[in-house]
Amino acid sequence: MTLRLFNTLTGQLDELAPSDGKALRMYACGPTVYDYGHIGNFRTFLAVDVLRRFLLLRGVAVRHVMNITDVDDKIIRNAGAAGVPIGQYTAVYEQAFFDDLEALRVQRPELIARATEHIERMVELVQRLAAAGAAYPTEDGSWYFRLKAFPEYGKLSKKDLGGMEDGARVDVDEYEKDSARDFALWKAAKPGETSWETAIGRGRPGWHLECSAMSMEYLGESFDLHAGGEDLMFPHHENEIAQSESVTHKPFARHWMHVRFLLVEGRKMSKSEGNFYTLRDLLLKGFKASAIRLALISVPYRHQLNFTFDGLTEATAAVERLRTFAARLKNTEWPAGLSPHTRGADAEVFEIVDTAKRDFYAALDNDLNTAEARAAIFDMIRKLNTLADSGRLHLSDSRAALAVLADFDAVFDVIEDRDAEATHAAVAWAKAAGRLQEVTPELLARQELTGEAIEALVAERTVAKKRRDFARADQIRKELAEKGVVLEDSKDGVRWKRK
Ligand code: AMP
Ligand code: ZN
Repeated sequence: MTLRLFNTLTGQLDELAPSDGKALRMYACGPTVYDYGHIGNFRTFLAVDVLRRFLLLRGVAVRHVMNITDVDDKIIRNAGAAGVPIGQYTAVYEQAFFDDLEALRVQRPELIARATEHIERMVELVQRLAAAGAAYPTEDGSWYFRLKAFPEYGKLSKKDLGGMEDGARVDVDEYEKDSARDFALWKAAKPGETSWETAIGRGRPGWHLECSAMSMEYLGESFDLHAGGEDLMFPHHENEIAQSESVTHKPFARHWMHVRFLLVEGRKMSKSEGNFYTLRDLLLKGFKASAIRLALISVPYRHQLNFTFDGLTEATAAVERLRTFAARLKNTEWPAGLSPHTRGADAEVFEIVDTAKRDFYAALDNDLNTAEARAAIFDMIRKLNTLADSGRLHLSDSRAALAVLADFDAVFDVIEDRDAEATHAAVAWAKAAGRLQEVTPELLARQELTGEAIEALVAERTVAKKRRDFARADQIRKELAEKGVVLEDSKDGVRWKRK
């Protein structure tokens, strides 16, 4: 079986494989770094992460490029209001974005491209478009794309653009649905705005131009997959296709993946509704990064995800269940006192493990159905726990089950517990940003440990280890890590330090 993924362009499930037989070349629209990312943004980045990880698990190499939009209308407006250069303004949010990705364990793309570092490529693209009759300058020194030059416009979003007026223009980066107009490729410098002196005049690129120029720069004129949230389908991706195909006369991306929007408690997320959450907001409320990751990826990307706090609590329990089960499998001394070496494979266990593996892969092969993939694994956990309770799970069987769990975690990545680090980093950030009032009191209390309390916990851990109570020893280590205390075991005893 190979992965079949819904393709917005063809309107059907298409097989996804590298067209050059080597690596799957994919471009995912990255963030506009003007604020902290919200959980809707991260739903989209996580969906792309699931795709990327599943391809890797399937043995497909990937070349994944993501842009950072570090110049656009909103950035210029906000940096201006803050009275700082745009680079200084965006650096903060770019770093925050990468920190958030790390907390959510989103793998880094092979290549990250900043818009402001590719201005020359964008200028060249405008020049090529002008030579092809698809771009024209206006009196103020801006450049526009001539929609009439690209009759296929609308083929991705399948919008009826019959009412399109020739020559009507729009210059904002984000514009309303159904207002197909000639759009700005390049915006002439306005007083006080960031701009570049170039062969097509002084100005700055439009948002759509950035992605065409950078994707083709690193992936070639035709590549395998382009992804983003559903809002980008029109006009952003439609415009990217128009800009690119008008000069190359080749299909730009073969496959288009769009991630459905996230709702919060059934409503559109917005600051005025009071239901707008960044990742940091949730970490400071005491939710674990792994549970947030699991909650955001468990609904297949083409279904609407209704994010709720009940759902997050459920995901927290699910992560615990996975971790407890993995620990049980790794533990060679079964509670029933049975030796793991007593016998070989059990046909029933083999069947359970084999079915889980088959169902897991089949679900992800089918348009990345993460809900079914997850259900296959939880089904296995339930059945094997029952067998283990009656002493019927043995070493060789548990190894097979662990291998399936490893496949699951290659995509879901929630079993290994690194939550304490993410929580600690979020609290440290809240402290530095003067936002400690947003941290729940329980979480704060756990963060603030005196040296004496640390010493006491370290001593308790040493005793626990002597008693071979490794579970307690491990729990103490994790508790300390959550408070930013790291332990170093050496032959002279245990040393601790604050991070
Ligand atoms: P932006 O930083 O606004 O350019 O958005 C980054 C990514 O997040 C884009 O792919 C958007 O389509 C996506 N996105 C924005 N809002 C949501 C949402 N509520 N649910 C899912 N994805 C979203
Ligand atoms: Zn883009």
